[in-house]
Amino acid sequence: MAALEFIRVEQLTKVYTLGEVEVHALCGVTLTIARGEFLAVMGASGSGKSTFMNILGCLDRPTSGRYLLDGIDVATLNADERAELRSTKLGFVFQNFNLLSRTSAAENVELPLVYSAVSVKEQHARALSALRAVGLAGREHHLPSQLSGGQQQRVAIARALVNSPVLILADEPTGNLDSTTSVEVMETFMALNRQGITIIVVTHESDIAQFAQRRIIFRDGLVVTDERKGEGAFIPASLAEEGQNGKAVPGGE
Ligand code: ADP
Ligand code: MG
Repeated sequence: MAALEFIRVEQLTKVYTLGEVEVHALCGVTLTIARGEFLAVMGASGSGKSTFMNILGCLDRPTSGRYLLDGIDVATLNADERAELRSTKLGFVFQNFNLLSRTSAAENVELPLVYSAVSVKEQHARALSALRAVGLAGREHHLPSQLSGGQQQRVAIARALVNSPVLILADEPTGNLDSTTSVEVMETFMALNRQGITIIVVTHESDIAQFAQRRIIFRDGLVVTDERKGEGAFIPASLAEEGQNGKAVPGGE
């Protein structure tokens, strides 16, 4: 069982101090996520979703509690080791795409490799392969302004893919997209998940969460709901696990 555990957080808290005021963004979150899961994170604005994602992405540290990623206690890593972990294991996708506007799709995708040991030729090859993986073959030389919103977000997904991450963290990736385009982006995540990449997507739209196999809901810094897909609808994770005869690998091939 322990070997399947990819992410484990235990009693995670995060307190932001703003002058005299303390904001309790996370109030003791305990959760495990298996390799290969596709998880939707929901909850009202201010409930702690982004704080949780930033900690999972090693972009921020908890005030207390433990975070183990692939068996590694992230708190034991120094800044360089955390940066190394981010660039080798994690991919990030944001609401605003964060693409460089005067730079082609291919060059945007190559960006995470520019300061790496990867040769320029190999950088081009990996960028093309990542663009192909998100259905954007033939658009390598387009500028972001020459692409639709959904295509721009898929360029951002390709950029997240170029280091072959095991985990993609996407914080409201469809927040700026219309519903048709949102579906296109979520289908891209589904295809990557089928290849074994663990995907965690924050959304406040139930339709979008339907693409995931599991959804958790935050309220006031706590996970108040944890559900898995059973027969097409979300049911409490505890019931879904019973139904699997103790097998804890959702969607495993
Ligand atoms: P969500 O993503 O669910 O909207 P957040 O994780 O961004 O929620 O925020 C949770 C709480 O923490 C909110 O009350 C927010 O105002 C506060 N918060 C988030 N980031 C900071 C910060 N850098 N400094 C102070 N307070 C913050
Ligand atoms: Mg947020």
